[in-house]
Amino acid sequence: MKKGNIAVQTENIFPIIKQFLYSDQEIFLRELISNAVDATTKLKTLSAKGEPTGELGDLTIQIILDQENKTLTIRDRGVGMTEDEVEKYLNQVAFSSAQEFLDKYKDDANIIGHFGLGFYSAFMVSNRVEAVTKSYQEGATGVTWSCEGDPNYELISNDKTDRGTDIVLHISDDSVEYLQESRIEELLNKYCKFLPIPIQFGTRQESVTEGEGEEATTKEIEVPNIINEHDAIWKKSPTELTDEDYKAFYQVLYPFSAPPMFWIHLNIDYPFNLTGILYFPKLNNTFEVQKNKIQLYSNQVYVTDEVKEIVPEFLTLLHGVIDSPDIPLNVSRSYLQADQNVKKINSHITKKVADRLNDLFKKERPSFEEKWNDLSVFVKYGMISDEKFYDKANKFVLLKNVDNEVFTLDEYRAKVEATQKDKYERTVMIYANDPASQDAAITAAKKQGYDVLLLDHIIDNHFLQVLEQKEDKITFVRIDSDTVDNLVQQDEAKESVLNEEQTNQVKTLFGEVAGAGKSIEVKPLSPEAQPVQLVRPEFMRRMKEMQAMQGMDLSGFPDDYKVIVNANHPLVANKMLTSTDEAQQKDVADYLYKLALLNQNMLKGKELTAFVAKSLTFLQ
Ligand code: ADP
Repeated sequence: MKKGNIAVQTENIFPIIKQFLYSDQEIFLRELISNAVDATTKLKTLSAKGEPTGELGDLTIQIILDQENKTLTIRDRGVGMTEDEVEKYLNQVAFSSAQEFLDKYKDDANIIGHFGLGFYSAFMVSNRVEAVTKSYQEGATGVTWSCEGDPNYELISNDKTDRGTDIVLHISDDSVEYLQESRIEELLNKYCKFLPIPIQFGTRQESVTEGEGEEATTKEIEVPNIINEHDAIWKKSPTELTDEDYKAFYQVLYPFSAPPMFWIHLNIDYPFNLTGILYFPKLNNTFEVQKNKIQLYSNQVYVTDEVKEIVPEFLTLLHGVIDSPDIPLNVSRSYLQADQNVKKINSHITKKVADRLNDLFKKERPSFEEKWNDLSVFVKYGMISDEKFYDKANKFVLLKNVDNEVFTLDEYRAKVEATQKDKYERTVMIYANDPASQDAAITAAKKQGYDVLLLDHIIDNHFLQVLEQKEDKITFVRIDSDTVDNLVQQDEAKESVLNEEQTNQVKTLFGEVAGAGKSIEVKPLSPEAQPVQLVRPEFMRRMKEMQAMQGMDLSGFPDDYKVIVNANHPLVANKMLTSTDEAQQKDVADYLYKLALLNQNMLKGKELTAFVAKSLTFLQ
């Protein structure tokens, strides 16, 4: 037996390991299994090169839980270690790299979890760790290294007959959760699902059917419980994979989820190494709370599903996996954002996504249009937040009108520019955000020969402002921002049938029925236009929307609309004004005003009841 001291440079790191890594303790299992996978892969490589490794045999890595003895063992049949290697790798390399790592990052517990303490992370959960190992090399004898979480270790020879390494963790009393089968199973599923070497954790029951027809009997048999039965298909070439493979893999990642619409297989090896599959889910015009997140792997080992720093934010609406050994995971978040490699990864993924969409648009436009409802939020969000994406997406972003026809930006401009140009030569794009309450105005606009877009998603407010900034000479006005005659261009003032005195009288009457604080304008519109219209000037409304977006509380502000009275409408000019009874005049004004409210679905409660009652009296 040999006893020794691990070369401690500054201080005892074991208490630090325990203390600082508390929140991410669970990563010890990932680290140890990664080592086992590495050792196994090394052996396979050596053997493939013709080195004398002996029979490879079954290379399954086993995770063995012994609740009685309070141990958890990670067993591999990889290269193993000779005594010298144990000294070198566990006492020197592993120890000093763990120490270096801790010295650097002990103040940032967040990042430690992401990667890298390696072997020594075992001490987060153990009061003793043994490495029982035997090298693949001919004539090697087994050695057992044992350490109790202080700088002393023991090294004795053992009579292990089989090649490989058992890492035996004597789980400490404050980490008993790692003696629970369900907890280990959970961790294995989280971190090891796609590792390239089979990982076995105990056995499970499986039913098998024997015989045929009436004779058939079903019985339960015990089979090895293999955690990673599924291939990491992102590592394969797309030519080897069918649509079914991609869809099935999606179900492995996100069980019981609605199937994705389509996907992109990423395979980059220069200037950085990255593979992955990004799926486009059906977003159905909503920003759903993201329960299916993109998962980040490093060489098939799960790292995290917090990928905000690694992919542009709008892409986090996508699902799938990204695997890159080149993403520097053991550095802090702010550093990650500034990292050149990460920036390149970012823009590369963005480009790929834009290209894929463009391809779909060009080659399969009907299918693209069919998917648009589920794609639009994603594309618009991308255009708002990423200039490079914008420059590609403005060729395929679609605008839908209230009649459900879709157009590209260019197509739409061509469609409306002859009839919808304002005095500044801008093409005016008229839109509705709530067709149910805006139907009267939409109908009037269409009658005038205008087209009306449907922009009814919360993202559209922002999106149309970005279009106005970036595209040449276009402007958006909401259908209720002015009277239809004025939506596109201030019409030349029509002749009013009212004189000034009458105009003032109309204004006063409507002022009384609409109540204090409402602004009333009496305008000479065409006699066929509505007698009373409620409008919300575009600029003012947008200002308010922006304030609301920035979190200002606007609940105290009433819906701010202007009342436009059509001086030339017969009900105003004749019916109302010709009456000599002031009460009757007011009655008409009130009725017309309520009709305008009703027209926009704004007449509610007692006012609505009274209005209906009054309307019924007309029929008696
Ligand atoms: P890393 O894996 O990043 O090199 P670790 O601290 O996890 O760092 O491990 C240190 C070294 O110990 C490894 O590089 C490897 O040489 C050796 N080692 C650890 N676990 C095993 C194992 N199961 N089989 C063979 N060698 C191992």
